[in-house]
Amino acid sequence: MSENAIKTDVVIIGAGPVGLFAVFELGLVDVKCHLVDILDRPGGQCTELYPEKPIYDVPGLTVVTGQELTDRLMDQIKPFGAEFHFNQRVDSLERLDGGFRLTTDADTVLECKVVVIAAGGGSFTPKRPPLPGIEQYEGTSVFYSVRKMENFKDRDVLIVGGGDSALDWTLNLQPVAKSLTLLHRRPEFRAAPASVQKMYDLAEKGDIDFKVGQVTELHGENGQLRAVTIKGADGTFEHPTEVMLPFFGLTMKLGPVADWGLNLEENLIPVDTAKFETSEQGIFAIGDINTYPGKLKLILSGFHEAALMAQQAHHYIYPDKKLIFQYTTSSTSLQKKLGVK
Ligand SMILES: Cc1cc2nc3c(=O)[nH]c(=O)nc-3n(C[C@H](O)[C@H](O)[C@H](O)COP(=O)(O)OP(=O)(O)OC[C@H]3O[C@@H](n4cnc5c(N)ncnc54)[C@H](O)[C@@H]3O)c2cc1C
Repeated sequence: MSENAIKTDVVIIGAGPVGLFAVFELGLVDVKCHLVDILDRPGGQCTELYPEKPIYDVPGLTVVTGQELTDRLMDQIKPFGAEFHFNQRVDSLERLDGGFRLTTDADTVLECKVVVIAAGGGSFTPKRPPLPGIEQYEGTSVFYSVRKMENFKDRDVLIVGGGDSALDWTLNLQPVAKSLTLLHRRPEFRAAPASVQKMYDLAEKGDIDFKVGQVTELHGENGQLRAVTIKGADGTFEHPTEVMLPFFGLTMKLGPVADWGLNLEENLIPVDTAKFETSEQGIFAIGDINTYPGKLKLILSGFHEAALMAQQAHHYIYPDKKLIFQYTTSSTSLQKKLGVK
């Protein structure tokens, strides 16, 4: 055991919706957690990729945005006092006698009895368009996600791409932006047909401009974009814009998880569906990172997986204690843990 290591029952890698709900399920069975995430805040894909988009299939919530779901989960897990380590990537995992040691790229060392990998798509990064000098505009004029729609209010916006993100943000930002142009290299889209139809309706009314073509050059100074060169069906021309949002998809890099000696199937971690344990005893994988027959990459699947994982994790933390199944509605002991008065 290392002197400076933080000691805890469970380390959860990833503070996406599934990692957050795992805190709740583990808390109900008296298991303490620390969470580590590369991002600077909780929520994973929900807050990084679609904080303001409505989600319609979280049980019991008719509609909830990515940010609101995260806020609600954070509120729900408050009684369990989990500790968060943001802006850090878990780089290494070592086996100890009766546990594990995890080390992050910020040199935080955590020792625990159980590891829960809730790493989603792994260290996901947006694909950067191959345009010379694009780096100098990133974060000022070029953005790969929409953190706040307000930032694009009354601005000339160019969205590039043909998938769901490009189409969704075209529809969502149109009422906010001063002008909005969607650029895609062909008139066929990978996005939901209903969104594509709505986009064409807006283009017909003149509320947005849809162009077929590709950006070949960026023009501006000091990180501020002024225009882009577009090579399209009608030739090559300059298109003035202040902001460009390229949505070329994400690279799903498993990252360091691939080096931890776990069985992998196409960069996902196979698990048994009774416990959501990996090929290694004491290491679990829940949420988008795992795979099993019939797996659906949905938030609700991850929540179910967290509940079953917690039962087995309890067994490792308290080998001599029998876990009695209880409902939160009727168990005074569970309600006490939740701080119900
Ligand atoms: C545009 C869009 C719309 C969607 N809409 C819906 C919907 O309507 N309904 C639905 O159910 N699902 C939807 N999804 C899918 C849903 O967001 C995912 O299923 C969900 O986010 C998975 O949660 P997770 O916690 O497993 O992973 P993630 O949300 O991906 O979180 C994983 C976290 O792990 C972190 N991480 C990874 N590796 C490391 C490491 N080594 N060290 C530290 N941190 C690490 C990442 O930074 C990330 O924050 C949508 C996804 C997208 C992109």
